[in-house]
Amino acid sequence: MSKAFDSLKVYLDRAMAMKAAMVLFEWDDATLAPKAAGELTGNVIGILSGEYFQAVNNEAVKKLVEECREDDSLDEAEAAQVREISRELEKLDCIPQEEYQAFARLSAEAVRIWTEAKEKDDFELFAPTLKKVVEYQKKFAGYRAKDGQKKYDVMLDDYEPGFNMELLDRFFDTVKAEIVPLLKAVEESRVKLRDDFLTGDFTDEQQEQIGRFMAEYVGFDFNKGVMAVSAHPFTTNLHNKDVRITTHYNERLDSSLFSIIHESGHALYEMGIRDDLTQTMVGEGASMGMHESQSRFFENIIGRSRGFWVPIYEKLQEAFPENLQDIGLDMFVNAVNKAVPGFIRTEADELTYSLHVLIRYELEKQLIEGDLEVEALPEAWADKYEEYLGVRPETMREGVLQDIHWSQGSFGYFPSYALGSAFGAQLYYHMKKEMDFEGLLEDGKLEVIREYLREHIHQYGKLKDSRRILMDTTGEDFNPEYFVKYLKEKYEKLYQLNEK
Ligand code: ZN
Repeated sequence: MSKAFDSLKVYLDRAMAMKAAMVLFEWDDATLAPKAAGELTGNVIGILSGEYFQAVNNEAVKKLVEECREDDSLDEAEAAQVREISRELEKLDCIPQEEYQAFARLSAEAVRIWTEAKEKDDFELFAPTLKKVVEYQKKFAGYRAKDGQKKYDVMLDDYEPGFNMELLDRFFDTVKAEIVPLLKAVEESRVKLRDDFLTGDFTDEQQEQIGRFMAEYVGFDFNKGVMAVSAHPFTTNLHNKDVRITTHYNERLDSSLFSIIHESGHALYEMGIRDDLTQTMVGEGASMGMHESQSRFFENIIGRSRGFWVPIYEKLQEAFPENLQDIGLDMFVNAVNKAVPGFIRTEADELTYSLHVLIRYELEKQLIEGDLEVEALPEAWADKYEEYLGVRPETMREGVLQDIHWSQGSFGYFPSYALGSAFGAQLYYHMKKEMDFEGLLEDGKLEVIREYLREHIHQYGKLKDSRRILMDTTGEDFNPEYFVKYLKEKYEKLYQLNEK
């Protein structure tokens, strides 16, 4: 047992406790807190985040981290925590404190202005602030860049360690070359899928009841988690015995249904993290992309497959008799897989989703590394939508102002969303070789699939990065071909593209 690590752990435990408190307030804010609470609770969160910053970023911690880095008696989990905290400190150390704080203020302001601009559908209101945000982010990335590293690569590495433009260009080029024509073929197909029966006048209670059943069915453990309602569905975790998901209810029965399966996928990841890692700096999912791979795996690869619904479709029919009584299983499964190009990323189907992300990736790259000016964004955005998705947004709200990410300075975040689907597809083809995947779904034996994911992915938390996980699990580094293969097989069949 290392003395330096024991001393360091006291600071880290304190930091993690602050973080848990902040997370709980954020959860509360989005679900149950009264409307008027916002500002004063904001003060509490502000103080807690200052305490967190202090607990992590001080001279004693820096000294202990140095000692621990020299210490080869640390076990794997301890060494990983030291690596993680070093990374955090390094990030903070590169950036002058005044600039860091100035950016924090700017970003809070930027989110407010973005919200207003979106409401008023006025990009020019947001543009000057966005310009400043971009400048800060470029400056910070410049401080942090190592040996000629490109600025956008620094940003990308924050969200998906091990991924840079070289690798992502290959991924998105594949997506562009294969999925854009696939979507065109789908649109020209004579097969028209019905989905009108998914819309209706449902009560929240009706949806909640079946939603809770679905969460449990995929493995969400209500002894270690809760489900609530919020404007946008999300998952939050305090530790592996307290993981919380939210959903929203509207006139589409599949909306809350699949959002619950999606968030349950995130939750299963967090619930599956090893006990010795939870409540430490490596006690959460490996990366953004790996997290999305698990949520999308459950939502799409499992949840939108025919096999998944075989044992439980009757139950769904009973929950929504007026809509589903006369709708057979196949018709239902086809409906929840219908592809329709639209403007809004968060509402996109499985086929078009990655194209929304491709557009953001290309624009960010040009904004950070190329010569695209903030003022020219709306036009560039609309042009790309027209080119890849065949639709041109008429409003800013449906176009360049739809996502919050840029106002927060989160450049480099978007690719993880698409990587998640691609990781999932790679895992899927490997798992099919190891088990009778479809058969397990049809028999309702999801625990076999869940256990496999826990054993190979969930338990490790941040001990491995996403590429390591893929390598160790599938025997292959990240390979975008599986994603394309998956979508092609699925949509060619669904829209009978090979039958002339
Ligand atoms: Zn998600």
